[in-house]
Amino acid sequence: MADGELGPERTYFAALQRGDFLIQKCRGCMRHVFYPRVVCPHCGSDTLDWIKPSGRGAVYSTTVVRRGRGSGPDLNVALIELEEGVRLMSRVENVPPSDVRIGMKVVASIAATASGPLLVFNPAGPCGE
Ligand SMILES: [Zn+2]
Repeated sequence: MADGELGPERTYFAALQRGDFLIQKCRGCMRHVFYPRVVCPHCGSDTLDWIKPSGRGAVYSTTVVRRGRGSGPDLNVALIELEEGVRLMSRVENVPPSDVRIGMKVVASIAATASGPLLVFNPAGPCGE
């Protein structure tokens, strides 16, 4: 397969690897798009440009994933709505999972994990210090 055919998901992860969080913006309808894809889900255009979002967003929904004894601390799984209007599944770090609240302001950050770079969010503002 030619590199271009490997698709937008690969472009997204290659950017994360370099420390850049990118989302797409459609030239047809000017809306932002996430998860990375080839065709705009709003208007069907295939002219999607990569842009760097502000990284700011708010918690849209949040869940605490409780892990069994011995398998590690509870995890937070949150749906984050970015200022650009797209929502993505991630997690909020540096705050106890059960303290993550809907509407909480968060900022994107790229965490290094054993399986590669991962997009996570940290609380924004004074409560995140
Ligand atoms: Zn579009």
